[in-house]
Amino acid sequence: MVSCRPERPVAAWIDGERLENEVVPSLTLILKSGGCGWNRCLMCGYRHFRYLGDAASLTALIRSQLRWVSERFPGQEYRVVKVFTSGSLLDPREVPVEVRREILSSFRGKRVIVETRPEFVTDDAVRECMEDLDTGSGPVSFSVAIGLETSDDGIREKCVDKGFSFGDFLAASRTARRAGAGVKAYLLQKPPYLTEREAIEDVIRSVHDVRPHADAISLNPCTVQKGTEVERLWRTRAYRPPYLWSVILALSKAEETVICDPVGGGTPRGPHNCASCDCDLVRGIKDYSLSGDRSLLEALLAVDCRCKEEWEFVLGEERPWCMPLTG
Ligand code: SF4
Ligand SMILES: [Zn+2]
Repeated sequence: MVSCRPERPVAAWIDGERLENEVVPSLTLILKSGGCGWNRCLMCGYRHFRYLGDAASLTALIRSQLRWVSERFPGQEYRVVKVFTSGSLLDPREVPVEVRREILSSFRGKRVIVETRPEFVTDDAVRECMEDLDTGSGPVSFSVAIGLETSDDGIREKCVDKGFSFGDFLAASRTARRAGAGVKAYLLQKPPYLTEREAIEDVIRSVHDVRPHADAISLNPCTVQKGTEVERLWRTRAYRPPYLWSVILALSKAEETVICDPVGGGTPRGPHNCASCDCDLVRGIKDYSLSGDRSLLEALLAVDCRCKEEWEFVLGEERPWCMPLTG
């Protein structure tokens, strides 16, 4: 469900999530908020979803979305909740603390994952979230999810413009874990200005660097979202989203089981190969993500298709961008 109506979230749906070796129903929410305070990442179209109002009207807007969610999804049908905004749920300017605490309290007893930039992962914020979710009868399951994108500070700065460092992520991870919360890291495969091969190597290296500091790693193959710098590059043929072959290769070489839902897979704006093998490979990646069965990746890499030769040519022949190091 995707909605433009103010009293409804941008999107809300139930699907499956792997949790301790079983697949459980999971509610994903994308709430309208005050919008991301950073608002600069080159591939991000979500940052355009923002509500321009004072704190009181922002609180009322988020409350109305929460009401809609509790009527539409009463709670018995899911065990995991993932809450995204168009930025950081833990940013008090984007989501006033009072209403953030109401959001968390409404999912008390569930396993809750909230997306945030690392600078908002403070001792107080994490402690409050843990308190809000606590039923008093069992451990609290709360995680912060951080869009780290890559462990390479140069790539994050030049190719994403993310505005924080790997060190900032590590500090947030320590803070979250100290308070008993989990950490999920999102990595981005193939931001602009990287070759297909460089992007694969970046994912493999990032998984290696991140795994000691995160309980779960999720890979987002880059998509071309509307109103972004990536879209501008794509329109001038200066950017192509990753091949699905590259996504599968990166997942298979990663030292850890990394989950991946290739959003927009098989479309020109999403990770894609040729038209004929996309569907099977996207389904295969989703099956692997739910099962954690890495042998599926080997089987997918062995699939035969005429586009494989093209992909291998790209891996061998594409040359890096020559970006000036200084302004
Ligand atoms: S990716 Fe996250 S931090 Fe970057 S602009 Fe989008 S919402 Fe903000
Ligand atoms: Zn193909």
